[in-house]
Amino acid sequence: MRRAEHAPHPLTLGVTPACAGRPLSTFFRHGASPADLRALCGACPLYEACDAYAMAYDVRGIWAGTTYSEGAQRRHRLGILPLSVFTDTPRDLDVLRERRPYGGDLRARRRALAAQGVSTR
Ligand code: SF4
Repeated sequence: MRRAEHAPHPLTLGVTPACAGRPLSTFFRHGASPADLRALCGACPLYEACDAYAMAYDVRGIWAGTTYSEGAQRRHRLGILPLSVFTDTPRDLDVLRERRPYGGDLRARRRALAAQGVSTR
């Protein structure tokens, strides 16, 4: 097994994603269907960057049309150990803090989703 290499968060690249304006809950359980998201993501200019980030980091939800378990299986097949979104991306989080609600604080974002009854596990 080898540790994944850093990949930039897609929203730090200055390109508007196809999912712009959609609530974050779209990408979690009870959100849009995986088939709908695969179609949306397939047309996104950030698809490759989003996929690379989701392969490098242990992110939850659907990224680049790939579910958490599909991504985990792919990493397992390739022998990749993911990085942590909490401890391994300080620079990305600094950039996101200026652009995203909840100040880029992923734990605060998770709490806000939980308050809406959306599971991010
Ligand atoms: S690939 Fe999908 S999840 Fe990733 S930024 Fe684009 S639309 Fe959003």
